[in-house]
Amino acid sequence: MFHKRIVFQETGLRELKKDYTFVDMHIHSRYSHDSRTHVSAILHKAQKMSIGVAVTDHVRAEGSFEACKQNKVFVIPGIEVNCLENKEILLYFYSVNDLRDFYEKHIEKYIFIKKEGKKRITKIFGTVMVNKTMAEIIDQAEMYNCLKSVAHPYTFPPRRSHLFFNRRKRRNLLNKIDAIEVLNASLPTRANRQAVKWARKSHKAFTAGSDAHMLKEVGESTVAARADNVEDFLEAIRKRTNLVIGEEIKLSTVVKEFMKSQNYKSKIGIRKLEHFEEEVLHESL
Ligand SMILES: [Zn+2]
Repeated sequence: MFHKRIVFQETGLRELKKDYTFVDMHIHSRYSHDSRTHVSAILHKAQKMSIGVAVTDHVRAEGSFEACKQNKVFVIPGIEVNCLENKEILLYFYSVNDLRDFYEKHIEKYIFIKKEGKKRITKIFGTVMVNKTMAEIIDQAEMYNCLKSVAHPYTFPPRRSHLFFNRRKRRNLLNKIDAIEVLNASLPTRANRQAVKWARKSHKAFTAGSDAHMLKEVGESTVAARADNVEDFLEAIRKRTNLVIGEEIKLSTVVKEFMKSQNYKSKIGIRKLEHFEEEVLHESL
């Protein structure tokens, strides 16, 4: 058995849902440069699935604010921040007002798009980031009540970040981090298993999410906790009484959906598709 706190199968999910609140803690909406999903569609799907959501757009919080406006779906205020070193951190706030304050003071004015690199996708979208180092972002987040989780630490370079956080000179930084995203549905199983190992070794809590850039992926991975409000939910993660439930999405599905969303037709040949697949993996996960 892999780890008893991680459930990779769908068995008994209905039973668990009676006692636990399920939340997909990593979702992108159209406020992210690489997604076109409307927040209303995410909420509608979440309601149908009886799960909660955290809309965590790349360096933007408007999607999260929009999700927080309603009260039909359980929402954790959140954001995914990409820093100057091109590494990402997921921040979950106990209150939407704190997210708003943090966003307005420390993020919004510092967003920029780095348009460089050889890859087609980087040229089209650019790399969206905040003009701050990871250390600055974490220190500023420390001023708020928020849970800090390393996003997909074993993703593909350049966003792969476990070595970055593991450097001796950044020990202080790693100490300030609460959790590690151990199940990201958009990654291969191997990358998630490595993330679990690292989280256990460094004594960090577990978070999970689909990293959905398309509606179809929403809900593929979730965190489940015995909680009915944001504070209790995030505290359950800190206390490590939460579960991580879900599975990885097949890469072919991710690519197909991505191409559909970009209006690509089936004309693209296999070789080109493979090339594209690699680009998608590097740039949009
Ligand atoms: Zn993401």
